[in-house]
Amino acid sequence: MPSTSNSLRDALSSERGLGSSSESLAAIRAEARRERLLDMERRMRRYRAACFAILGLALASASTEVGWLWLAPLAAGFCGFAVADRFMRTSRRPGLWVAGAWGLLPLLLAGAVIASGGPASPALMWFALPAVTLGVRFEPWGMVLGTGYLLTVFLVSTVAIDPAGAAAHSQTLVAAAALILSTVILSGALVESDRAHRRSSTLDPLTGLFNRNALEQRLAELDGQPSSEKDGLSHALLLCDLDHFKRVNDKLGHAIGDTVLQEVAYTMRAVLRAGDSIYRIGGEEILVVLPGATEKDAVGIAERLRQAVRKRRPAGVEVTISIGAAVSGSPKVNTDDLVARADVALYSAKEGGRDQVFVAN
Ligand code: GH3
Ligand code: MG
Ligand code: MG
Repeated sequence: MPSTSNSLRDALSSERGLGSSSESLAAIRAEARRERLLDMERRMRRYRAACFAILGLALASASTEVGWLWLAPLAAGFCGFAVADRFMRTSRRPGLWVAGAWGLLPLLLAGAVIASGGPASPALMWFALPAVTLGVRFEPWGMVLGTGYLLTVFLVSTVAIDPAGAAAHSQTLVAAAALILSTVILSGALVESDRAHRRSSTLDPLTGLFNRNALEQRLAELDGQPSSEKDGLSHALLLCDLDHFKRVNDKLGHAIGDTVLQEVAYTMRAVLRAGDSIYRIGGEEILVVLPGATEKDAVGIAERLRQAVRKRRPAGVEVTISIGAAVSGSPKVNTDDLVARADVALYSAKEGGRDQVFVAN
């Protein structure tokens, strides 16, 4: 399959799990989680080093009382993350490396707490530190497990080791446990709010068209709706791709390429009817959803789009688009099938010489 069709398929696949059959939506979501985790760990590295340095300084300032033995667990915690960093990038399950490095921290803290007075240790509050990053590193079930683990280690290093001391310092222990739990809840809430915000951002900043987030929502709405072309109950998709767009960038530069994209988007949007929606799903790939459209409607609109772009000469450049159209069959809309058929039709339009509309059968 040529690169155009591949990239189009990939663009949709990476959002919806369509196209290549080996990729399920779950696998794609897992991949997105993996990338997010790797990205987050990379961004955190510097700040984590700073935190270890601050903890080291704090402990060093008390070295006359607590000696220098604490250097060993601090170094072990730091090395744990360095090792995880080294191996997670090539691992299929980087979460396990992160979980390993993270899981070491409460154990090291427990050692420090036991060595510095158990329930009376000034280091008790530091149990809140691993709690801060639980939400961003792990899915909700991982957060629950992590919190349970953290509290267990906390209790073992205080109540279990020295019950009498724990009774004497019960208020300190309750305050520390409350701090750990509140930290998990607040940091989890912040992460969730950030994720929700990203999910709800639906506009492509360059063209002002809807983006792939919005497309996913729209296709989810359409999926499973009744569909019957003879009863006038069908929906159509148009997959549009700028022809030889790479040449525009190569010849005129990326900035002109961007202007061309913006003008093409504007031109296409102006052609569409009120209920139609238009999405930029990849670099120069645009998908149009035509609710209630028959094949005849879809072809008519696709032709109008094609001619409007051709006539427009965005930024003075001769630009054309190829369009693959697909119409939903009976008895229900299957958007996976619809997208796959539009993709095949677009491929045929490209193969057929570009600047044309091709309808999937
Ligand atoms: P085809 O007719 O087969 O579709 O050829 P093509 O050159 O359009 O397709 P190809 O997939 O080879 O290249 C797409 C190009 O789109 C590559 C990239 O430089 C350009 N592109 C993708 N996103 C953007 C963008 O946001 N701005 C600009 N200026 N160019 C972009
Ligand atoms: Mg393309
Ligand atoms: Mg193209």
